[in-house]
Amino acid sequence: NNKPISARTRELLSEHAIVLKKSLGQNFLTDSHVLDKIIRAAELTERSGVLEIGPGIGALTERLANEARKVVAIEIDQRLIPVLEELFASRPHVKIIHGDATEIDLRTFLRDHFQDVDTIHVVANLPYYVTSPIIVRLLSERLPLKNIVIMIQKEVADRLTASPGTKDYSSLTVLVKYFAMAEEVARVPSHVFVPRPQVDSAVTRLTLRDQPAVYVSNERLFFKVVRAAFAQRRKTLLNTLHANLFSSRRKDEVEKWLHEAGIDPKRRGETLDIQEFAALTQVIDSKDT
Ligand code: SAM
Repeated sequence: NNKPISARTRELLSEHAIVLKKSLGQNFLTDSHVLDKIIRAAELTERSGVLEIGPGIGALTERLANEARKVVAIEIDQRLIPVLEELFASRPHVKIIHGDATEIDLRTFLRDHFQDVDTIHVVANLPYYVTSPIIVRLLSERLPLKNIVIMIQKEVADRLTASPGTKDYSSLTVLVKYFAMAEEVARVPSHVFVPRPQVDSAVTRLTLRDQPAVYVSNERLFFKVVRAAFAQRRKTLLNTLHANLFSSRRKDEVEKWLHEAGIDPKRRGETLDIQEFAALTQVIDSKDT
């Protein structure tokens, strides 16, 4: 039953004379079944706090408000703020903040807004133009989050859950795996959005790990190695590591490190699993690089 939400969305937009901006990734969700799936995936309780990024005109926000103790929504588009404030005026546990989620100091923000909750969740239908940077921020800043349930482009969703050796396996896959367990919750066709985007979407849940998936003594080096390994996919691991990270070293030295880590230097970087990336990092870190 799509009609009510999509009709209401159009009504609210025209009432406030708001023309949606493609540049802000404004594709609003109008399907109550998809909203159900997002809510279920977030596993909220009456003691949960939710950070929503990009509430739009509040379709998801309203559902979150029905489940959680507190909902804080950050919206960049000033024109939507009065609409949201009006919609949630009678619900004091919903707070609307005008801001840019890629800029806000999230650690301080979470500390200030979620003092009296047991678990903090991020739930969002993310604007497509900042999907990857937001995922990277949410994970690598080690925020006290239980899970992150996001609607993202199908292509990005495929990267989050890809296996080594596949075309979607990337440095983002490894970063996500390091910090979280990723599961696809639902595929979402483009026609449930207003306006309709060009690509299909998917809802993905990232459940944060208590400890990273692998141990490395030097996290910065680990992520540098991972990025360099994927920098030139057609090259062997030896060549791409040498060209992109260790060009000041002799190539046979880099080759030795690979052998020591038990990795064939002729393999492509994209075939390594996270344990192999960790093993390689440990060898390199022990070599005083
Ligand atoms: N949550 C609504 C829904 O599901 O229908 C809207 C989702 S829409 C895909 C993305 C929303 O994020 C838009 O309202 C857009 O204005 C907002 N947005 C875009 N960039 C943002 C940013 N950097 N920080 C916060 N909100 C942003």
